[in-house]
Amino acid sequence: MDSPEFSAPTKLFIDGQFVDAADGATFDNINPATGRLLARVARGGTEDASRAVVAARKVSDAGKWAGMNPHQREQILHGIADKIEANAQRLAEVEVYDTGKPLSDALAVDLPLTVQCFRYFAGWPSKLKGDTLPSRGAFLTYTRREPLGVIAQIVPWNFPLFMAAIKVAPALAAGNTVVLKPAEQTPHTALMLAELAVEAGLPPGVLNVVTGFGEDVGDALVRHPNVDKVAFTGSTAVGQQITRTAADTLKKVSLELGGKSPHILFEDANLKHALKAVVSGIFYNQGEVCLAGSRLFVQRPIHDQVLELLDQAAAAIKLGNPFDPETTMGALISREHLQRVSDYVELGVSEGANLRRGGSRVDLNGGYFFQPTILDGVNNSMRVAQEEIFGPVLSVIPFDDETDLLPMANDSPYGLAAGLWTRDIGRAHSVASALKVGTVWINAYNLLDAAIPFGGYKMSGLGREMGQEGVELYTELKTVWTSLH
Ligand code: NAP
Ligand code: MG
Repeated sequence: MDSPEFSAPTKLFIDGQFVDAADGATFDNINPATGRLLARVARGGTEDASRAVVAARKVSDAGKWAGMNPHQREQILHGIADKIEANAQRLAEVEVYDTGKPLSDALAVDLPLTVQCFRYFAGWPSKLKGDTLPSRGAFLTYTRREPLGVIAQIVPWNFPLFMAAIKVAPALAAGNTVVLKPAEQTPHTALMLAELAVEAGLPPGVLNVVTGFGEDVGDALVRHPNVDKVAFTGSTAVGQQITRTAADTLKKVSLELGGKSPHILFEDANLKHALKAVVSGIFYNQGEVCLAGSRLFVQRPIHDQVLELLDQAAAAIKLGNPFDPETTMGALISREHLQRVSDYVELGVSEGANLRRGGSRVDLNGGYFFQPTILDGVNNSMRVAQEEIFGPVLSVIPFDDETDLLPMANDSPYGLAAGLWTRDIGRAHSVASALKVGTVWINAYNLLDAAIPFGGYKMSGLGREMGQEGVELYTELKTVWTSLH
């Protein structure tokens, strides 16, 4: 199977230009599907973070972006969507090289969602508005939605371009300028996005990208006094660290963090549809999905039948070269992550779970492939049911009825999402209202839409991205009182 040629930018993108790191440093970026070097990428540091913030501040203070006619800003955001569409194949290929995910998935999901984000948020500049408020006495009182200023955005490696789009598009729509830090494992498509944005007419300095490591360039952005807000997607531990650091300058912080989402099958579920959703809910994108339905709760009367069907479905998953159209599951992101996932399976077994399927690395072209894995006989208090594995490992937990299900489903530090399958409409909505999560899918799973807010309860996050809430997340609300005397 021939793979396409790899070609992508490797330097920082500051003020509309590709530049080396101030100290000339680079880091090695590895292709997870082969374990081989893909590219040497500029390793930004504190000075580069500062350069990028200064560039973003300058255009922000000059009002070059927020001050532009909103219709013109909309046109530019649509222009970015057009550029992404026109370059979709190339962007998807680079994404596959960086992440190890199947090309078919990148083309069917990552790219369309990215375009949808820019199109949806492109509609907002002319629609962001405040209110006129009743006030006592002779006053005219109104609110305005104003941009925050300079936003630092830090994103993970599982859907690199889409994660960047979810952050960049609403921030720009609200009139902010941005410094984006992609994950060290997946730096390229963010750089391509920034270049395409300038080609689409975005003024230089409005969107800057600094590649490098979280603990240096990421941390420097969070500390920088000229950054007004940090928007982060990644692990809960790093989200906590960022919140602590941001407290020194009291920056606004929004967080999209981890999950351990319950996927619930009642005995009256439509099994044909439910099984498909359960399988993709945990194995899609190698399980490297914050929304992964990693705790499967099955009502006892259908437990054994569901396990049998799941086993067959997992057996049909095809690991391989992500550019091969036959491949349905790609490689994990790194050697370290492969080890981590593998250790969790071992831990589950030592805690008393039964390894029903999978559990091992697959030796394929030197890549970091791991078998789709099912653990049954899991107890919700085991670490494999409490901690996020972020890999293709499903924990199956039986339940009797809502009374024992709900305390277990909600017994989690996380609260990102949940899925539930039943034909009983009353049960569906009462369980949906009792679940402490940001998104519930009834008779569905893994649905996302740029127009629909998304985010987590508990330790899964702060704030909601996408939809109206997603653009308001990048605004300050100003109140103006005017005396009419
Ligand atoms: P991570 O280690 O938290 O990294 C995420 C980003 O933060 C990367 O760009 C990373 O840079 C940067 N970073 C690391 N330490 C930092 C620090 N001290 N200061 C500033 N930035 C720092 O997460 P990950 O392992 O890449 O991604 C997996 C996690 O993301 C999972 O827990 C998953 O649930 C979560 N996630 C959540 C959502 C959601 O929407 N809720 C979506 C996707 C993923 P480096 O690349 O240099 O480490
Ligand atoms: Mg990589």
